Amino acid sequence: MKPMFAEIILPLPLSSTFTYEIPSEMESSLQVGSRVLVQFGRKKFYTGIVESVHSTMPAYEVKPLMALLDPRPAVRYPQMKLWKWISEYYLCSVGEVYKAAVPTGLKPESETSVTLNQDFEADSDTHFTERQAIVIQLLEQKKRMSISEISIATGLANAAGTVSQLLQAGVVEVDERIVEKYRPKKQTFVVLDAERGDNEKLHSFFDRIKRARQQENALVSYLDKSGWMRQAAPLHDVSRTELLEVPGVTPGVLKALVDKGILRMERRVINRFNSVSDNIEISLVQLSAGQRKAMDEIRRLFQDKDVVLLHGLTGSGKTEIYNHLIAAALKDGTQVLYLVPEISLTTQLTDRLRRAFGNRLIVYHSKFTDNERVDIWKRLLTDNEPAVVLGARSSVFLPFARLGLVIVDEEHEASFKQYDPAPRYNARDVATVLASMHGARVLLGSATPSVETFYKASSGKYGLASLYERFEGAELPEVEIVDMKEQRKKKISHGSLSRPLMHEMREAIGEELQGIVFQNRRGFAPMVICRTCGWTPKCDNCDVSLVYHKKINLLKCHYCGFTSLMPRVCPACEGIDIETYGYGTERIAEEVQEIFKESRISRMDLDTTRNKDAFQEIIENFSAHRSDILVGTQMVTKGLDFEKVKVVGVINADTLLNFPDFRSDERAFNMLEQVAGRAGRRNGTRGKVIIQTTRPDDPVLKFVKDHDYQGFYHHEIIERKRYSYPPFTKVIGIYLKNKDSVLADRAATAMTMKLREIFGSRVLGPEKPFVSRVALWYIQSIMLKVEAGASMSKVKRLLRECHVAISGLPEMKATMVYYDVDPV
Ligand code: ADP
Ligand code: ZN
Ligand code: ZN
Repeated sequence: MKPMFAEIILPLPLSSTFTYEIPSEMESSLQVGSRVLVQFGRKKFYTGIVESVHSTMPAYEVKPLMALLDPRPAVRYPQMKLWKWISEYYLCSVGEVYKAAVPTGLKPESETSVTLNQDFEADSDTHFTERQAIVIQLLEQKKRMSISEISIATGLANAAGTVSQLLQAGVVEVDERIVEKYRPKKQTFVVLDAERGDNEKLHSFFDRIKRARQQENALVSYLDKSGWMRQAAPLHDVSRTELLEVPGVTPGVLKALVDKGILRMERRVINRFNSVSDNIEISLVQLSAGQRKAMDEIRRLFQDKDVVLLHGLTGSGKTEIYNHLIAAALKDGTQVLYLVPEISLTTQLTDRLRRAFGNRLIVYHSKFTDNERVDIWKRLLTDNEPAVVLGARSSVFLPFARLGLVIVDEEHEASFKQYDPAPRYNARDVATVLASMHGARVLLGSATPSVETFYKASSGKYGLASLYERFEGAELPEVEIVDMKEQRKKKISHGSLSRPLMHEMREAIGEELQGIVFQNRRGFAPMVICRTCGWTPKCDNCDVSLVYHKKINLLKCHYCGFTSLMPRVCPACEGIDIETYGYGTERIAEEVQEIFKESRISRMDLDTTRNKDAFQEIIENFSAHRSDILVGTQMVTKGLDFEKVKVVGVINADTLLNFPDFRSDERAFNMLEQVAGRAGRRNGTRGKVIIQTTRPDDPVLKFVKDHDYQGFYHHEIIERKRYSYPPFTKVIGIYLKNKDSVLADRAATAMTMKLREIFGSRVLGPEKPFVSRVALWYIQSIMLKVEAGASMSKVKRLLRECHVAISGLPEMKATMVYYDVDPV
C-alpha cells in the first residue's frame, strides 16, 4: 500500500506545516482536524492538528505520527479556515493562531523533567552553592519535577540556570515527558442494581428493607428522580449529591443500600457545562416603541447586508434589542456569539442574560480555569444545540457548528485587539470573517462607533440602524467643561477637585444619589522628584518613571511590574526633600474622602481588583448603594449600569487629549463620552458631567459637551483623509526589539531602508515609541501605510522578503521582529 502523509499544524511560530507519515493502523480513523501527538526535533513532543492528508512522498525523511488523541476531530473545518485567514491577515503563522485558539488542556506537550542522577557520587571537594543545595534537597523529596515546578517550589528566579549547572556537574538528569494538563471532572452517580422493567427484583429489594423506613425513602427518591417507573422516557442520571439533598437521605443510609446490593455507586466523567434539555425557555422584557423600531430596522437591513451597525446612545437599551435578536436566532436553531470586552463580563450582564436565556447561555472568559475552557470546547464540539456564547475576545475561536448571529457590543473597544503575543488580532474583525464563513449576520453595537466602522456604515458597506433616545426618555447628562488653569489662579480648587465638581457631588449625595470620579492613572502619584537635585526614580528595565503607591509605600513600574522602596533620602544627593506630584486614583480617593468625610468611598483600578472576586464585589457594592462615590480608572467607563449615579467627574482630560498618534482624538472622545454615559441613566433627574482640563478649547471637548458623535465623526474623517490614515489606508506597525539600544537602532534603520526600496513613501519612521524600552528590550517602530484594498498575502510576502534580505546583518542577529496589523 502507498504510504500516506499528514500535514500537521504545530503550536509554534513556524512558517508552514510539518509533514509526518501516517502509520497504517491510523489511516482509517485519522481526519482533518484530528489531534495527534508528534515528535518534533530530537526530544520535544507536541500535540498537533491534522491540516491535510496526502500521498506525496517528501524529499526528506519524515517521522511517523505517534498517536491519534481522539476518535473524532477536535477542530472543525471552518475553524481551520479561520486560522488560516488570521495568519494571512495578521502576518503570523498558523501555529501561533492554533496556540492561541485552543485551550492548553487540549494541547499536551512535553516538558523537561528533572531527576537526580543515581550514579552521581560526591567527593570531598564537591561543593554546592546554596541555590544548588536547595534544588537537590527538593529533588530528594519529590524525585521528579519540571523546571517550572522547581521554580515555583523554590521561589528561585532562574531555576533553569541552577538546573543547568547541576546537569553539567552530573548531579541531575533531564528527560522529556508528556504532560496531560486537562483533568476531566468526575462525579459519583447512583445506579439501581436491577434491569429496568425487572419489577420482580425491585419487589425483592423492597422486601429486604421492609422495616428500614429511611432506606425505603431513599430508594423511592431514587426511583422518582431517575424516572425508573416511567418506562416511556429515558432514564435520568441521578448523582449521589443530588440524592443526598433529599431530607432523610444520609451517606449512612446510602451505604446500607449499597451493602445490601440494592444500589451501586459509579464514578463517571462529566462535562462541567452540561448540555441543555430540548425546550428553549426564553423570557424577554417588552421593548419600547423606539427599541422596537430600531430592531425592525436591523431585521430589514439584514435582508441584504451581512453586517449592521446599531448606533445607540449609552442607556438606550441596546442590550434588550440584542436579546430579542438572540432569541430569534435560537428559535431558528442556530448558535449565537455575543462578544463583549473582557471587563464588561460582569455578573450584572451575565445575570441579565441568564434570566433571559437560562441554561442556553454559555459564558467563556479568561477567569475560567483551563479545565473549564476545555469542557466548554468539548460541549460545543459534540453538541449542536442552539446556544448563546457570551465571551471576550478569545471566544471567536470556539468550535461553533452553525452560527446564525454574531453580536459585538462596544465594537469600538481597543481591548478587542490582542496586542501580545501573536496573533495580534482584532476580535471584532475576526468575528465578521467567522460569521461570513457560517453565513451568519453580524450586529455591531456602540454609542461611539469606531471611525472605521462608521465609515463603512455611512458608505453603505454595512447597514446602519440608530437609537437616539435613552430608555424611558432619560436625558443625556449635561456636560460642563471646567478650566483648571482658572480654578488654580483663583485658588478655588481643593487639590485635584474643582469647585463645580465638589458642589455637584455634594448635591448628589444630599439627594441620596451617587457619583463617579474618573482618573486614568492608578497609584498615588505618577511623579516623584527630589527638590534639591531633581532626581526622579526610573524603572531599571523600562524607559519610564516609577509611580508612587502610598499604602504599600513602594515605587512601581506600570509596564513591567518592577518595584523598589520609596527612599526617604535622595539616592543622588542625600537630600530629604522628596516630593510627589500628580494624581493617581489612590490619591484622588484619599482626597475625596477628606472632602466628603461622611461618605463611603470606593476605588476601582488594577490595584484594588487583583484578586479574583474584587472587581465583582466593588461593582455589587456600588450598585447596592453601599458606597456613595466610586473613584476609578477606565474600568469604571465600560458598560456598567448603575441606577443612581447622578454626577461623573473627570479629573484631568488633558491626559487623554493630544497624543501624537492618529487615533488619540477618537480614543479621547470615546472614553469621555462613555464615562459621561454612566450618569443619569434612570434616576429621573438629569445627570451632570464635569470635565476638568487646562485645554478647554480642544475641539474634542466641544463634541463631548454636545454629545455630538456625528459632528466628531465628520471632523475626524476629514483629518484621516487629509493625512491618509485609516479607513483610507491600512496601517501595519513593524516593531524591532533588541536588548542593546545601538543594535536596535541599526536594525530599524536597515529594515526601513529595505522597506523603502519596495514600498517607497508608504514607509514612515523608524521612531522610538512613546515608551521606548520595556522589560529590558529597546523598541523601534516603523509604520507602513498601504492602500486600503491591498492584498495582505502580497504584503506579507514582501515583508518577509525584506526581513530575509537583511537577516544576515549582525544587528539582526538578536533582534526580534513582529508585525501589528490595524494597530489601535
Ligand atoms: P445600553 O446597553 O444601550 O447602554 P442598556 O441595555 O444597559 O443600555 O439599558 C439601560 C437600562 O434601561 C438598563 O438598566 C435596562 O435594564 C433598562 N431597559 C432598557 N430597555 C428596557 C426595556 N425595554 N424594558 C425595561 N427596562 C429596559
Ligand atoms: Zn536629590
Ligand atoms: Zn519597567
